[in-house]
Amino acid sequence: MALLLLSLVMVTPMLAWNLGGSEKTALGLNYTLRSAQLASGKFTTARWNPCQSAIVWRVNLSGWPAAKQPAMLKQIQTAVAKVAKVTGMTYKYGGTTTFTPRQENLVSSPADIIVAVINPKTTNFSFSENSLGYGGVLWATWYGGDGEGAAVVRGYAVLIPAGMNKLKAGFGGGNTQGNVILHELAHAAGLDHVRSNKQQMYPDLTAKSPNGYASGDLQGLNLVGKKAGCITVPSRVNITDYS
Ligand SMILES: [Zn+2]
Repeated sequence: MALLLLSLVMVTPMLAWNLGGSEKTALGLNYTLRSAQLASGKFTTARWNPCQSAIVWRVNLSGWPAAKQPAMLKQIQTAVAKVAKVTGMTYKYGGTTTFTPRQENLVSSPADIIVAVINPKTTNFSFSENSLGYGGVLWATWYGGDGEGAAVVRGYAVLIPAGMNKLKAGFGGGNTQGNVILHELAHAAGLDHVRSNKQQMYPDLTAKSPNGYASGDLQGLNLVGKKAGCITVPSRVNITDYS
């Protein structure tokens, strides 16, 4: 009976797209990973396959003044390079796009990760009036004859122009644009919020925000990166491979 069920599952594999997800609170205050529930009910860390040849990212800077776009792109590139260095994953810049990430269109985004500085009214994520940005991941889960698993397949980092404009440009401790970009990119790598305001993944940017990633952030990024091992994503997870 079990075998019969298994072959049935292989014919109609389950594939789910998930936004958000439950937090793994047992990990403590310094970092929190996203966890994906598998068909068996077990949980696994929602992370990218760190061995994919590249995570291609593109930018939509349409909400930012044209004259300041080169500087913004440079900040984003610096931040992506930091994430790449810590996680050991390969990120590849794919150029600009007019794509606006929304909750329902992430599957069809024109890159693995979209970093967008856009008018928040054009998206449908839950921004509050004081929001500076929003970031997250979309993952696929599967099961069948080759077992079950999950992998992040898309990420997004939305930066809100009105909020970003009030911050000091560049990187550094406290209220800097660089810190917001690093925070949202860490969401796009799979990290969730923490309760310690000494970490960059604290939900609010404050005067006490660290200069870049602090020890807990780095620990979390390590756990979703190359050191966590490769994930073999079955071909039936039918999503465009941009690498
Ligand atoms: Zn956040």
